[in-house]
Amino acid sequence: MSIKTNLSKIKKKLPSHVTLVAVSKTKPIEDIMRAYLLGQRVFGENKIQEMVEKYQKMPKDIQWQMIGNLQRNKVKYMASFVDLIHGVDSLKLLKEINKQAEKHKRIINCLIQIKIAQEDTKYGMPYEDAKNLISSVEVKKLKNVLIVGLMGMASFTQDKILIKKEFKTLKSNFDNLKKIASNLMILSMGMSGDFTLAIENGSTMIRLGSSIFGARNYTN
Ligand SMILES: *Cc1c(COP(=O)(O)O)cnc(C)c1O
Repeated sequence: MSIKTNLSKIKKKLPSHVTLVAVSKTKPIEDIMRAYLLGQRVFGENKIQEMVEKYQKMPKDIQWQMIGNLQRNKVKYMASFVDLIHGVDSLKLLKEINKQAEKHKRIINCLIQIKIAQEDTKYGMPYEDAKNLISSVEVKKLKNVLIVGLMGMASFTQDKILIKKEFKTLKSNFDNLKKIASNLMILSMGMSGDFTLAIENGSTMIRLGSSIFGARNYTN
């Protein structure tokens, strides 16, 4: 299936309040250009170095979003241009993003990653920790970052009932935190395998890679 066919199929299913992030990690510039020429402007990458290289080669009206787990010492490489950082899960990281954003006189939008999956993963914060972080004095002092929403990844499973339960949990976390943080607008949940379910359960931003660009090949 071509990128064109894939994109138009997906867009037909997309309600207007849901933003499509085209996840182009591991994919060549030609593929990104194809999607760009079809009107796609929001792209997601999970490695800073790879995103920087693609940013340099591609038109400058693209919104580049970081969806991967971050190493603090690399934040500086993307601070001048990154549009949104999805995987923020500590105050330390938020402080580093703030520091680098300040150097470029920017405010960088961030999503707090909440741990919703049952499976063991070291990424994402438990809800209570996220709540404490968002309402903390330290975060209020950071003038160059703005927490605009939440991000989550469901368990890697075929069990739709479990995935749905995890999405519902994240949506209710989102609704609760909105009461204390009026800037929260984005709920980033849903990937190629589960985005329909995510949208049904309140997602406003889906991150799709393989369903647009085809399966990834990590060996080259
Ligand atoms: C790779 C990745 C995606 C896209 O995955 P697909 O299953 O190819 O749609 C979405 N979110 C994150 C955080 C990813 O790392």
